[in-house]
Amino acid sequence: MKEYLYNKKSIEELKADLQKENFKRVTYSFYKYVTIDQPEKFRDRLYKLCSKNNVLGRIYIANEGINAQLSIPEHNWTIFKDSLSRLEKLKKLQFKKAIEDGNSFLKLIVKVKKEIVAYNVDDNDVDMEVVGKHLSPQGFNEKIDQHNAVVVDMRNYYESEVGRFESAIAPNVATSRELLPAVKDLIKSHKKDPVLLYCTGGIRCEKASSYLIQNGFEDVYQLSGGIINYAHEVRSKKIKSKFKGKNFVFDARMGERVTSDIIGNCYQCGMRSDDHKDCNNDACHVLFIQCKDCEKEFLGCCSKDCMNFSKLSENERKKFRKDPNKIVYKKRYSMRALNSN
Ligand SMILES: [Zn+2]
Ligand SMILES: [Zn+2]
Repeated sequence: MKEYLYNKKSIEELKADLQKENFKRVTYSFYKYVTIDQPEKFRDRLYKLCSKNNVLGRIYIANEGINAQLSIPEHNWTIFKDSLSRLEKLKKLQFKKAIEDGNSFLKLIVKVKKEIVAYNVDDNDVDMEVVGKHLSPQGFNEKIDQHNAVVVDMRNYYESEVGRFESAIAPNVATSRELLPAVKDLIKSHKKDPVLLYCTGGIRCEKASSYLIQNGFEDVYQLSGGIINYAHEVRSKKIKSKFKGKNFVFDARMGERVTSDIIGNCYQCGMRSDDHKDCNNDACHVLFIQCKDCEKEFLGCCSKDCMNFSKLSENERKKFRKDPNKIVYKKRYSMRALNSN
């Protein structure tokens, strides 16, 4: 019998499977920049190892390394961790436990990619042997207070809009592809100042710091282990959190609370809110912030148009999808959708 090395179940089946489980799952992430010569082979091996341990989540593998977010049955965690660490390429992995629990993933995806973070930068623009100095959460806090320090959020706008370091510059970009050139430009007058980078778990800063150093920035630092590790240490060591709000995560939970501050606003009414929603219109799916009141009023949709569409029968929705003049939904929420209401 042929062995299938990818998920074949429907969302409904997967949800039912998860509901039947009578054990707890834990969410962990890790990354490593390491040369992987045969990513396809490595991928199959990892897929088998994960399936065997009933691990769900998302793993990206490229020639430059590996990036993984995983939901693991708690009783399999030790065995799974040990078998990962036995793989030649994955020695000395640093696992980061999620800040908050919850069912993070429905299925297992293991993909081979060109890069583990889709920066799309030229190889000449980075040298992974020369990266920013790692700072502990405590060290990061101290460095922030230095008068000429520049703090940069190395994530997309929808991540920093619900949580960020108080004094951080948050680039208004929607993809990793746009991020590095945007940051280089935003901080171009700070080539000699301490530049402090942070992201969710550290992976994006690893390469971004190298890029900035190659582009003439002389004093570049990165928050070791990212916001995840920072949040853990803030709790365990009772350090003051200079990060406010939520840590956005790319799984079903969408965010983990770090502090009780709510720094975002509902896109529809402007009230304080930091709850990200995926528009309920299945032809739209735009990501936006919506407060509880607007969620009720718009039935979880981003606009009146989307709400009306989501009320149509499946047949009518099909007809619409075939219409050549149909609205093309945007990847990014636009304020125009609001004004047309
Ligand atoms: Zn609202
Ligand atoms: Zn919508």
